[in-house]
Amino acid sequence: MATIRSVCAHDCPDQCSLRVDVENGRIQRVRGDPDHPFTAGFACGKTHQDTELVHSPERVTTPLRRTGPKGAGRFTPVGWDEALDAIAARWRAIIDESGPLALLGYAYSAHGGIMNRGLVNGLFHALGASRLEAGTVCDSCAAAAWHATLGPVGGADPESIVHSDLLVSWGCDLVTTNVHFWAKIAAERPRGLQVVVIEPRRSRTAKLADWHLPIRIGTDAALALGVMHVLARDGLCDRRYLALRTLGFERLEAEVLPRFEPRRVAAITGLAAADIERLAALYGNARAPFIRLGTGMTRLARGGQALRAVALLPGVTGAYARPGGGALLFTGNFCDLDTAVVNAPSGPADARRINHSQLGRALLELRDPPIRALFVAANNPAVTCPDAGKVREALGREELFTVVHDPFLSITARHADYVLPAALYLETEDLYRSYGSYYLQYGARAAPPPGEARSNFQVAQALAARMGLADPAFRLTEPELLREMLRGAPGAAALDADTVRSGRPIRIAPVGEQSFRTPSGKLEFHSQSLADDGLPPMPDWHPDPEETRDAARWPLRLLTGPGFFQPHSVYAGVASLRAREGPPVCVLHPAEAKSRDLRDGQLVRAANDRAAVGLVLRVSDDVPPGVAFVPGQRGDDETVFGSVNLLCADRYSDFGEGATYQSTWLEVAAWAG
Ligand code: SF4
Repeated sequence: MATIRSVCAHDCPDQCSLRVDVENGRIQRVRGDPDHPFTAGFACGKTHQDTELVHSPERVTTPLRRTGPKGAGRFTPVGWDEALDAIAARWRAIIDESGPLALLGYAYSAHGGIMNRGLVNGLFHALGASRLEAGTVCDSCAAAAWHATLGPVGGADPESIVHSDLLVSWGCDLVTTNVHFWAKIAAERPRGLQVVVIEPRRSRTAKLADWHLPIRIGTDAALALGVMHVLARDGLCDRRYLALRTLGFERLEAEVLPRFEPRRVAAITGLAAADIERLAALYGNARAPFIRLGTGMTRLARGGQALRAVALLPGVTGAYARPGGGALLFTGNFCDLDTAVVNAPSGPADARRINHSQLGRALLELRDPPIRALFVAANNPAVTCPDAGKVREALGREELFTVVHDPFLSITARHADYVLPAALYLETEDLYRSYGSYYLQYGARAAPPPGEARSNFQVAQALAARMGLADPAFRLTEPELLREMLRGAPGAAALDADTVRSGRPIRIAPVGEQSFRTPSGKLEFHSQSLADDGLPPMPDWHPDPEETRDAARWPLRLLTGPGFFQPHSVYAGVASLRAREGPPVCVLHPAEAKSRDLRDGQLVRAANDRAAVGLVLRVSDDVPPGVAFVPGQRGDDETVFGSVNLLCADRYSDFGEGATYQSTWLEVAAWAG
């Protein structure tokens, strides 16, 4: 039995280092690496089952060509050469007729590292194809708000929690989505670390907190401004820090904060005015308060304002200057790798951009030229995109030539003309840079993929060769490309490729107090860049007119979040995790269920103007009245009918053109077929 060191690639901030036991080329066990300080010897309950993921009988093991109508899932196996030759020939014909912008390719975050994801995008960059703005379904709003406030810098080091006396988990369920940080928090509680959770429902994390504030969805900016109001009123601001390291607080204090006195904030947020006072006092008197920011609060119409307001709080008290204080959204590009050698090896400097959140609209409506060929790797847009119905309608068009490279026959793959079998992360090698801790690590290939499956990296190179692309990236091996990425990258200057390739986790954490890379070099309460872009220069809270209109028409607001065992759709390939998660559910407060004469366990129809989805009802007061909570992004073969993102519009958030899943209203009734 050999033990290989690899890295978990499940798009998770923890990015665990793994020990993988392999016998006769077959993965036997996956566990957390005891020698990685953040992983600390344990993998989560999902990745423990990755032997089942890797050996799943549901994996695609040969290239497949469509033989039935689109979406019917009828395919015949074909050889790799036949599939790749046919794909390249079709792409060449489309380019000849309509130009390269008629192609759209993308790889997003599921089970891939920098090189596997990057080289697929590099292929389409070099071809001059339309370019997908992929992060918009996830974090572009949060990132844009953070950048407008602090600049493109990483946040507080999660390992500095040893110096904190207060942890505020704001808009995230850490036990589900950041369990290794949660373990570090739990270890500090006996010495007095207090834990406050601010989120609309009583999540697993909220149940373990010292104090849970069940905030009304979409009102986080108002709460943060209310806390600032009290801090300013009660002399709990660090005026010296504000003068030296921040910009514009006096304008915010004069023009915005007077409107956020606790009684008004209570009416907006649904919290008690006394609790807002208590939170401000707790935060303002803490020596080193650490705020862990979640992206959930940004996936709605005014999400950017919310994240910006919360990210400013540590500037008011000067917590950004103290070890253990500050805020963490992402750790950011702490090691400035030259990723362009992989994801932009050649091609035009700019090309038509397609927002991931509006993929369906783009596929259906774009002209001059229309999108005629789509290549999808490591993503399942028919389930994960907002307005997923529009994506499905587009994928059903005969004239759209679709290729999907995936380990499983996902709903998106079922609409493809060709499905190519993909290797999983344990079957490839790649470089990983965590976004929730300050570690860089190279993951080795633990075992070969099943059947004829190939990595994204291999398929991108094979297609590039057929399309006549001569860039070095399409000829080099993974270790050779690693060397290129490290060459000349400022943060990587001290890194030698052989050391990185050894697989040891490499910590590259910032030292000293929080840095800011805004135009002023300071934390910006007032941002001229935002004003120049036509956005409010200072954080504020106003009701969104479209949300107000929808709230008057529909009685329930949708809240989505990661399922504990099914956080994203790749885990749908693991039967035991599906069983542990249970059936796809919609959770209602007992009062909402009673008023509709609904019982726990009954089938229900969650519906609005856009779609109807069939789910199983759970009744629980973990969810507040007026909210329908749907955990996970479960596919149609598990739900009674449909998938939750069919209900969501493809409207943009205020910052970063992000998705607005939580700006969705609906009604829930008994399922009537
Ligand atoms: S906690 Fe995250 S990084 Fe760690 S094993 Fe689980 S999914 Fe992977």
